[in-house]
Amino acid sequence: MTPLMQQYWSIKAAHKDELLFFRMGDFYELFHDDARVAAPVLNIALTSRNKKNADETAMCGMPYHSVAGPINKLLESGFRVAICDQIEDPALAKGIVKRAVTRILSPGMVFDPETLDGSKANYICSVDRETLCFLDATTGEGFYFLGKKNSLGLTKDFAGLIELLSPKEIIVCSDHANQLLQLKILSGPVITKFDRLIDTPQHKNLPDTAKRLLAYAVHMQGESLLNTISEFENRSILKRLVLSPTVIRHLEVFENYAGEVKGSLFDAINLTKTAAGSRLLKSWLRFPLLDLNKIKARQDHLGFWLSDISGLKRVRTLFSQMFDVERRIGKIVNPSCGPRDFISLSNSLKVGVEVSRADKNLSYSPLDLEKVQGVISLIENTLREEPSVSIAKGGVIADGFNNVLDELVGLSDHAEKAINAIEAREKLNSGISSLKIRFNNVFGYYIEVTNTHLEKVPKNYIRRQTLAQAERYITPELQELENKILSAKARRIELEGQLFSELKTQVISQLGTLLTFAKLWSECDVVTSLAWLALQDNYVRPEFKNDKKLEIKNGRHPVVENKIGKNFVPNNVELSFGDCLLLTGPNMAGKSTLMRQVAVLVIMAQIGSFVPAVAMSMPLFHRFFTRIGASDSLAQGLSTFMVEMSETAEMLESADGNSLVILDEIGRGTSTYDGLSLAQSILEFLLESSGSLIFFATHYHELTQLSEKNHRIKNHHMSIHEKNGAMTFLYTLREGPANKSYGIQVAKLAGLPASVTERAQCLLKVLESDSGRGQLSLTFGLDQNTEQSKKFTDLGEQVRTVLIEKMTPLDALNKISEWQQNYF
Ligand code: ADP
Repeated sequence: MTPLMQQYWSIKAAHKDELLFFRMGDFYELFHDDARVAAPVLNIALTSRNKKNADETAMCGMPYHSVAGPINKLLESGFRVAICDQIEDPALAKGIVKRAVTRILSPGMVFDPETLDGSKANYICSVDRETLCFLDATTGEGFYFLGKKNSLGLTKDFAGLIELLSPKEIIVCSDHANQLLQLKILSGPVITKFDRLIDTPQHKNLPDTAKRLLAYAVHMQGESLLNTISEFENRSILKRLVLSPTVIRHLEVFENYAGEVKGSLFDAINLTKTAAGSRLLKSWLRFPLLDLNKIKARQDHLGFWLSDISGLKRVRTLFSQMFDVERRIGKIVNPSCGPRDFISLSNSLKVGVEVSRADKNLSYSPLDLEKVQGVISLIENTLREEPSVSIAKGGVIADGFNNVLDELVGLSDHAEKAINAIEAREKLNSGISSLKIRFNNVFGYYIEVTNTHLEKVPKNYIRRQTLAQAERYITPELQELENKILSAKARRIELEGQLFSELKTQVISQLGTLLTFAKLWSECDVVTSLAWLALQDNYVRPEFKNDKKLEIKNGRHPVVENKIGKNFVPNNVELSFGDCLLLTGPNMAGKSTLMRQVAVLVIMAQIGSFVPAVAMSMPLFHRFFTRIGASDSLAQGLSTFMVEMSETAEMLESADGNSLVILDEIGRGTSTYDGLSLAQSILEFLLESSGSLIFFATHYHELTQLSEKNHRIKNHHMSIHEKNGAMTFLYTLREGPANKSYGIQVAKLAGLPASVTERAQCLLKVLESDSGRGQLSLTFGLDQNTEQSKKFTDLGEQVRTVLIEKMTPLDALNKISEWQQNYF
């Protein structure tokens, strides 16, 4: 084995769980199994080293300056990565260059925060019996939830939150890891066992889950990371409107049913200008508020900007010049952070200072703003306006910042001038017009003379190299100068490195303040974007009243309105808690849209946004329950009907006098009578025991009769205009039940063949003329091809073949009862 591979294997031995990125010159290489695993993920060629040798090894690699993308891809796919760098200058190395692992990365602890999708958080998460904690090490955001004790070690709410926030990595102690691995969590984060907790005094009062995440983050990225992490927030579930993953999915808050961001509520209302702003808006939508004062403060903030439209425009222009400050702060402590990152940080901070001055609603101390100003000046004074990419090249620190450095720069500049002077002098003295002085790493400075002039070469030249066309020489004078230049250059780069790391330390000491401001700016970005939305789309400030009644005047669904514009028909809704709006009307009449619109407007109101309506008044809602459409949970192996019923069970158990309940076509997944009975009993249960605000859309017309007995049921329908058998949807909510089911007309509109719809019309007449159940089967029985007739053939066969002689009377009775249940 070559010494290089020996070195490789000795390092790899300590990093069996990571893919080892091994630095060789300008490349990072992966070897052996690491290469075989990574190449297909990265879609790069797998080659081999020492081909046809005993030492042949699979390998793949990429240039060192473009590793961020491939590394993100590997982390995204759940791998861990160790970066092994050359830790001495190859030029000075004796034998093999020393190498060591400088960073270890995992899905939650990434290489370069700025190369991630800016609109998404990158959470690591930890959970135990009492708490659930999240940390985004790329933005410094940390928060935790307290929960009830539970033998599984994970409450139902916790599982929901994990699904909702889809962390990239779950960090738990070894005992918990095994339990957790048994839990099927949809987004499938990587589970990492880690048993240490941070034990610094300032983190003393945090729950263990937070201490574990901090210890892990420090373990992965070093102590200085702590400077980039904000205080953990106790995000009590009790102070938030709990939106379960089901509700979020049903209302298409972050993605539409097809899993695309386009067509979601977030997409329709997100006009933020910065990536940090869009992440904050997401977080607001995930955790709407229950604290009226906080909601009102956000509304006031929004109102402030609506009263100063030219200021609003100006601030939005400012935000379009701001980078992702949170993630840049996260990057400052990374080794991959270069001089240009500081320049762009300072440019964004400058924008931030202007924003802070313009927004009277942001609360901060003027002293802290001066600190931000101080960081800007520090960066501007220390660095050149356009520093080179890396400190290894020099050319980073501003002129005039440090006297010694200026002298060294002068010296190397001076020496270079001296070289030029020597070149001119030698040309003149020797009479060789093509004589050149050049530099390379092997010989340093040398004089090159082409073969045609060789007789003219002065005696004091010392030959160093012969080329096909020329000879290369050195002189003692040149060597002396070279030493001066090189040592000035080396000292200069060393000094620049030192000054740069002093800058880094000083900026890092201020990161806490910067982070606080970054959060304020994100908030301002969200509020001004919502203000702009309100202005552009005519939104109104919702009013919060405690009269247990929801009233919406001319409400619109922001997503549907986005799609169809002016064709959207606004609607009025008025409903008190404890009442149910029973909604009938044909398919496609707009029932679902209306009900979702109510929920979406409530969510918007409770994040402090204005709403698409002419007026809205509401109490605070504490919980949401939805049962909408057929959700596709086939991945979990549950049938649609089963999903529907388990979601309904949860709703019946928890809906209360502060809940919004939305049921769309409940009971559809089973036979008519089953479904109708279930729908009715579910509705009765909710009315009797929940006291919730209930929206209930159904195609079971029979249910509309319930309002005669129960005055809490308010019949409504989506109106239709019908003329000569043709119908148009009006999308307007009206009182009273729909007068008939328009299923056949809708089928006609959808283009079903006329023969089918005409036959259906006939069958409907028969059904409507006889109310008895027997008639139903008789009608079906006429047609040999129907399901029903197959069923009866099956029943006949069972009656024929049953072994009476082997049955007790009780068996026989049970059999008959089974047939009744299955076939009637
Ligand atoms: P339903 O639940 O009654 O089957 P949907 O709510 O799914 O009907 O609405 C069907 C379609 O009708 C929607 O996709 C939308 O394009 C249109 N629609 C719904 N509500 C409105 C409205 N208020 N104004 C205009 N078009 C609407």
